[in-house]
Amino acid sequence: MRFNRYICDLPIYEVGKPLEFIMRDNGILEQDIIKLGSNENPFGVSPFAKNAIIENAHLASVYPDDSYYALKEALSKKYCVNANNIIIGSGSDQIIEFCLHTICNKDSKVLMANITFAMYEIYAKHFNAKIIKTEDFTHNLDSMFKLYEKHKPQIIFICTPNNPLGEALLKCDILDFLNKIDDNCLVVLDCAYMEYCAYKDKSYFISPTDITKFSNVIYLGTFSKIYGLGGMRVGYGIANDEIIQVLHRVRPPFNITTLSLKAATNSIDDEEFILKTLINNFNEMERYKEFAIKKSLKILESYANFITFLLHNKLNSTKIVNYLLQKGIIIRDLKSYGLNAIRITIGKPKQNEILLKQMSIAIDKWITTNL
Ligand SMILES: *Cc1c(COP(=O)(O)O)cnc(C)c1O
Repeated sequence: MRFNRYICDLPIYEVGKPLEFIMRDNGILEQDIIKLGSNENPFGVSPFAKNAIIENAHLASVYPDDSYYALKEALSKKYCVNANNIIIGSGSDQIIEFCLHTICNKDSKVLMANITFAMYEIYAKHFNAKIIKTEDFTHNLDSMFKLYEKHKPQIIFICTPNNPLGEALLKCDILDFLNKIDDNCLVVLDCAYMEYCAYKDKSYFISPTDITKFSNVIYLGTFSKIYGLGGMRVGYGIANDEIIQVLHRVRPPFNITTLSLKAATNSIDDEEFILKTLINNFNEMERYKEFAIKKSLKILESYANFITFLLHNKLNSTKIVNYLLQKGIIIRDLKSYGLNAIRITIGKPKQNEILLKQMSIAIDKWITTNL
């Protein structure tokens, strides 16, 4: 068979070890597992979403309303944008794919930050596009603009707050940058963690209405993070009519399930759940900061629901991750990003307490015995 060469050359991406493996290997019960590796909401599903799933379970036999009318109406109300300016994806991941699909080919260039969400590069490679990255550790819009002028890419990805480092960009800086980019270059503003930075500091808050006036910018949001619906796969893109209409041409029909739509639509109104999540997140993040000081570890200021520790050369991120795994604690090793670093999703108080206790043991052990 003659497959596309650039597809065959793609690396196979490994997802985290399934929970069942870890439990079986170490005799740990499912309810005792502390899963803080995927930036999920530690409080789980909002009661509003849970009730919607239960009450609508009988609708699992019917195809969804493919216009996604109810969810678009709810988003349109929340963000004060027209429903025609919204597209729904199976996670915002799928909208990243739509953007690359509608624009890229082997002659295209895609610009992104040095260390940012891995899916931009993965999907760009599906279309054989060339990847260009800034050299700075975190997002730097000046360097990005220089590379933009030099290479004239067709798409630019900006992730604010950024996964996996947690830094965010000021709204005023983003708007300055967008003003300098030509209409024929699509800028994807990935705002998967926007609710968190908006709560922490308003000057980092960018809303869809700030960008709909640009003809070449799309705002991406998701229900996977603060709304606690990672398993339901719902994300959205907001942009001007032209972009949204073209993206719809590559959207498979019924790409969102009937129950996912119900869950997402109902979770939007659960303000109590959102507030509880935000308060816990930033209160508990303080513990990690104190821990870092106590252990002389470097952390990055985080505007999201996770914190990233940059480890010194006496510590090895993979060893720490594996040590915690044996204790039933899942965190994210950033080795695949080329970093000796770990990313920890902020959990509930008890979870953080247990995690930090185990991490303290691991660190002390390795620093003194260099095991
Ligand atoms: C989690 C995440 C997404 C989207 O996840 P979906 O579950 O596909 O909606 C997008 N961008 C970033 C940076 C993320 O961390």
